[in-house]
Amino acid sequence: MGVPTLGCGCAVCASAYTPGSPNRRTRPSVMVSYGALSNGEPDRNVLIDTGPDFHAQAVRENIRAVDAVLYTHSHADHVLGMDDLRPLSFAHPAGLPLYADDSTADVIERIFEYTFRKVDRYPTSARVTVHRQPVTAGTVVQLFGAAFIRIPVTHGRNTIAGYRFGAAAYLTDMSDIPAESLPLLRDLDILVLDALRREPHPSHSHLSRSIELVQKIAPRRAFFTHVSHDLDHETTNASLPANIRLAHDGLKLEFEIA
Ligand SMILES: [Zn+2]
Ligand SMILES: [Zn+2]
Ligand SMILES: [Zn+2]
Repeated sequence: MGVPTLGCGCAVCASAYTPGSPNRRTRPSVMVSYGALSNGEPDRNVLIDTGPDFHAQAVRENIRAVDAVLYTHSHADHVLGMDDLRPLSFAHPAGLPLYADDSTADVIERIFEYTFRKVDRYPTSARVTVHRQPVTAGTVVQLFGAAFIRIPVTHGRNTIAGYRFGAAAYLTDMSDIPAESLPLLRDLDILVLDALRREPHPSHSHLSRSIELVQKIAPRRAFFTHVSHDLDHETTNASLPANIRLAHDGLKLEFEIA
């Protein structure tokens, strides 16, 4: 829902109205930037999800180009910013590539029907091309010299995509991690995973469960995302093990990808 959560009067939401507060949380998304390799290729920007805050996030982070988008699943907080790719898509005459499984692609194509119309399409619609990906654990999308590996995660009644890229993995929106996914999460430098609140929730992991998962997977560092107004940034961080922190808007992390 984002923090402040509209209509809520709790202390975390109240603090989040102050610009720059670490409690102000836009909807979850990450950008993976890499490149400037020895072959002279330019930097590449691969986005994971385009939520309803994508425009504001792109302005905040000075994002001027996007080369591909990977989607985790079709919930509103992960797809509704797709149309804001429009001006960035014009640099891709063959279509800015979007990678999604069938169920996610179906929803994107339904919501943004005008973008994918075969006839009577506006010439200024987003130039995007949907690449439908199999849901098999370990399916790889190769993008500009980096491998993005599908990590299935349980999200309530659904199984959706997390992604591993080099020494980092991004597992938003998950209530559990299936056994078949665990071998794909070995030797991580950075694990980003869902921790919605203190109390259990049917489709999201909660704080103590996420701490257990970090201990089981044993990355060097872990960051919790998809955090609700239940968790105050500073006091929650003070209570966490030394290698675990709450993520915050604008957080930048460096890791090996190739
Ligand atoms: Zn609140
Ligand atoms: Zn979701
Ligand atoms: Zn979500």
